[in-house]
Amino acid sequence: MRLLLTLIACCCCAAVSANDKQVDPLISPSNKTPLSSLAGARVYGGAVGLTTTTPAGKAPASSKEATDKEAPAKPAKEAPAAGGRKPAAEAASDPEAELSAKIAARLAAMRATQQARVAAAARAKKEATAKAAKVAAVPEAPKVYSNVWSYEGEAGPANWAKINPAWAKCGTGNRQSPIDIRDGMKVDLEQIDFEYRPSSFNVTDNGKTVQVMVGRGNYLNVGNRMYELVQFHFHRPSEERVNGKGYEMVVHLVHKDAEGHIAMLALLLERGKSQPAIQQVWNNLPLEKMDTMAPSETLDPMDLLPARREYFTFMGSMSEPPCQEGVLWLVMKEPVQVSPAQMAFFSRLYPYNARPVQPSSGRIIKESN
Ligand code: ZN
Repeated sequence: MRLLLTLIACCCCAAVSANDKQVDPLISPSNKTPLSSLAGARVYGGAVGLTTTTPAGKAPASSKEATDKEAPAKPAKEAPAAGGRKPAAEAASDPEAELSAKIAARLAAMRATQQARVAAAARAKKEATAKAAKVAAVPEAPKVYSNVWSYEGEAGPANWAKINPAWAKCGTGNRQSPIDIRDGMKVDLEQIDFEYRPSSFNVTDNGKTVQVMVGRGNYLNVGNRMYELVQFHFHRPSEERVNGKGYEMVVHLVHKDAEGHIAMLALLLERGKSQPAIQQVWNNLPLEKMDTMAPSETLDPMDLLPARREYFTFMGSMSEPPCQEGVLWLVMKEPVQVSPAQMAFFSRLYPYNARPVQPSSGRIIKESN
């Protein structure tokens, strides 16, 4: 090592000294390899260049000759020339570097392979997660239920509760309508106070019945509540029965109070004389289903009422989907007369649009004395 440092010092100084002559013999074929491996290219480059270009026969030249030739080998001048030959010399003379390069290349290849594996695994995981999310999302998709119901067939009353979960009450309720009204408790029921008046109206054939919307300001007062008339519509035959007896038709007048409570007034229809208010409705029936006719004349709901005002009352439900309960039913005892021609008119449109009677389930029925 001491000798090597000396050599380095000599080369760097580019000065030939007495010491150089002592070092020269070290740069010989036998000593070159250990030196080059220890010293580095820049240091021994010049020397190697000299020895390799020197004919083998001249290698054992005298110290003087070697010194003379080596003297101009200043790093500044020799470096470019030596640099051109360096790779060959290095490759030939540096198996460790070669091995290191091979190892580095192998490591780089392994690293690249590993990175590719990691990337592929991440991609596969991402795809699997997305697929799982997609599969999980399918059952969560909101199911669309039918809103189609009818009075007969597959969509008939027996299946209403199965068609749409929102209509569950049609199957599970215990205050459903209509009922067969019997075993009523005769009491002094308060008189229903009707505040009906001539009102604007329109008539719609809604595909289930003929429905009449009535203008604001028609009230029914009962049980300290004030219910406003919203609409009335028809069923054939009557949905309600009284002591097992059915009627040819019924009119349902739907009222609501300010809190949304519903009071349903039912007027049973039987064959008899012509009914003027019903005739007004028939006169204004639209020509097409789902159409609405809004005449300029007025209709007085009071004209629909029977002369006597005794009634049955009980709690029930709407008699069509969603069959919501909590409805106050008021069924007038006296039927209203309608002419056979007026009955026939409706039966041509709707020969059957009535829900069958539902269990009373022990509910209390009160009736006027
Ligand atoms: Zn009804």
